[in-house]
Amino acid sequence: MKLYNTLTQQKDELTIKDNTVRMYVCGPTVYNFFHIGNARVFVVFDMLRRYLEYRGHKVIFVQNFTDVDDKLIKRALEEGTTVPEVAEKYIKEYFVDAEGLGIKAATVHPRATETIPEIIAMVSALIEKGHAYVRGGDVYFDTESFSEYGKLSHRDIESLEAGARIEINDVKKSVYDFALWKAQKEDTEIAWDSPWGKGRPGWHIECSAMVDKFLGSDIDIHGGGQDLAFPHHENEVAQTECATGKCLAKIWMHNGYINVDNKKMSKSLGNFFTVRDVAEKYDYQVIRYFLLSPHYRSPVNYSAEILEQAKGALERLQNCEENLAFRLKSAVGDTLSEGERTTLLAIDAKNAEMDAAMDDDFNTADAISCVFEIAKLINTALADTSASKAFIQNAYDKYRTLLVLFGLELRAKEKGDEAEIEALVAERTAAKKEKNYKRADEIRDTLGKMGIIIEDTPQGPKWKRA
Ligand SMILES: [Zn+2]
Repeated sequence: MKLYNTLTQQKDELTIKDNTVRMYVCGPTVYNFFHIGNARVFVVFDMLRRYLEYRGHKVIFVQNFTDVDDKLIKRALEEGTTVPEVAEKYIKEYFVDAEGLGIKAATVHPRATETIPEIIAMVSALIEKGHAYVRGGDVYFDTESFSEYGKLSHRDIESLEAGARIEINDVKKSVYDFALWKAQKEDTEIAWDSPWGKGRPGWHIECSAMVDKFLGSDIDIHGGGQDLAFPHHENEVAQTECATGKCLAKIWMHNGYINVDNKKMSKSLGNFFTVRDVAEKYDYQVIRYFLLSPHYRSPVNYSAEILEQAKGALERLQNCEENLAFRLKSAVGDTLSEGERTTLLAIDAKNAEMDAAMDDDFNTADAISCVFEIAKLINTALADTSASKAFIQNAYDKYRTLLVLFGLELRAKEKGDEAEIEALVAERTAAKKEKNYKRADEIRDTLGKMGIIIEDTPQGPKWKRA
């Protein structure tokens, strides 16, 4: 498999030793629900992991939670709670959305606050080796001590420095120097003891420490959003190489932005949509399909129109699975006809084409096109009402494997609470008729807590499970 490597700016062969791929992806800062832009990172790398597993490899996948930083401290103050409580709440919410999106749990989800000894050890090593300096209770990485600084994001650091004219605060030696350790500002602020006094880690250091702790550095793939290449990943490279003498990762993958009106979606620009918000209107799987249908490196535009298209496309894919399952119940015949044999061979050929697209820089866009063509072959074969059970079973197994690979399969629905849900939906409709919107909203919230999403359509309210 070849993957575009930000470090070398070309497609590099993924060389796999002992049939095991070691992968690290920067996870969320848990102070809020995650937005669609964050979701793209999580879905893209979950898909890569699924594909590698489908090809028979073992994947050790590490994705962290940044559970202490300025944003969490601010949120805790606003909500009159503590940093660990904020983190706990949004880690739980992460898993709700991740599960909905079909994102498998990582092998390990380390937290910054559980990695403090390793972080302190790495910062100490950097100071000892002359790559970091202490200022008051803060510790900074000395970027000028690492001649290769800028190699990942291909920035010409010196010309930037001359041109940028960013005000250098008198604490740092260079504008590019970044905090490895931050001194506690107030007695009440969350902090850990360290050789430099009470404080907490800077953001970048946790990833270097976790990669080394769980994967031993020199890993196969490090992933993240394009916006993390500089400075976050550049700083990770500098820290790891200077502290351990090992390279951090062989292949660096970065996925493209999600744009809204041609502007990057981000929390800082305020033009973001949380997955939770979007999932009220669209099924989580529609969001997953929307995120996987373009090439991971292309920017994508987010709009209601594109999500509607995604919804229609996903329905077409799932209809094929549903038809196969339905026909399987009544089909007979253990022998394949000549035509059926040819169709199965054509499906295998398309499947091979799909694998080739994935092997060429993980082209999910072309791979999904192949799945559509497979669906078309199956639909054509199913138009024959005498299609044999042998064919349908075979086609079902192949097709279902592909939808499961993409995380787009029809999922089994829990049963047993339909009567209760229907009663609530009817009560809500009655409340709306009486213009009792307060009660109608209460019922919507109750249903929401049960994991039920209600949608008002011209044909009346429809409900589904989130
Ligand atoms: Zn990171």
